[in-house]
Amino acid sequence: MLVLGGTAEANALVEALRARWPERRVILSLAGRTRAPHLPEGVAVRIGGFGGADGLAAFLVAEGISLVIDATHPFAAGMARNVQKAAASAGVCRLKLLRPEWQPVEGDRWMAVTCLAEACRALPAGARPFLALGRQHLSPFTRRGDISPLARMIEPPEQPLPEGWTLVLARPSSDSQAEAALMRENGISHLVTRNAGGAASYAKVAAARELGLPVVMIARPPAPEGTVCETVEDVVAAIAAAG
Ligand code: NAP
Repeated sequence: MLVLGGTAEANALVEALRARWPERRVILSLAGRTRAPHLPEGVAVRIGGFGGADGLAAFLVAEGISLVIDATHPFAAGMARNVQKAAASAGVCRLKLLRPEWQPVEGDRWMAVTCLAEACRALPAGARPFLALGRQHLSPFTRRGDISPLARMIEPPEQPLPEGWTLVLARPSSDSQAEAALMRENGISHLVTRNAGGAASYAKVAAARELGLPVVMIARPPAPEGTVCETVEDVVAAIAAAG
């Protein structure tokens, strides 16, 4: 089995698969974006792109993979398409693990947008947004000289951030009080985030609600066609049912 990862649930899935089917070979694949990724212990890991859908199809055949599980991030749309194509051309079964989207609840002040450019346009002049986006998604905002964002990312940016920006090098906190303190101490006016779903990075959304801040919420790309499981348990059940 090949698990395409880069997410906390991919790691949890690998552990669940190994616990349930210890005799089966499980490979975890990562793109290699993070220098020190969190990994499950003792798992076979391969790192780096496959060279598109054809490269992935060739890997599936060469490694004798019988099932590929796409557990990449909900915004990793390119990989989701590649997995779909590669599995079809290699004649290998595919499952998609996709955690549910966050839904607004009472007290939320969400501004729904469909892309980064629209998120950038949604910010008023003078805004002090918290860009909880990752370093590769900041460029539209760097062209707005009239805002002073705080950007949080795990790895340092390749280019220095524009003047007036604040850089926080950290993983997202799972504690909404810590997220609220960060926003309060930095005089944040808006939160900009993508609708990643899941519990691990929801704390910032809860913190914005607590502080009454508007949230520019970027919608997900459409899910690929085919079977979609929302949880690790659903994936395990689907594999068990298929025999
Ligand atoms: P993407 O645009 O869909 O993928 C770009 C390319 O990266 C793919 O075509 C593939 O290269 C390679 N790739 C992606 N995931 C891979 C994997 N698990 N194993 C091997 N190669 C992989 O994805 P992205 O948005 O750049 O995200 C890259 C990775 O970071 C994903 O694995 C994702 O789970 C993780 N991640 C993404 C986000 C996010 O916000 N997008 C957040 C957290 C984690 P080839 O075409 O050469 O095979």
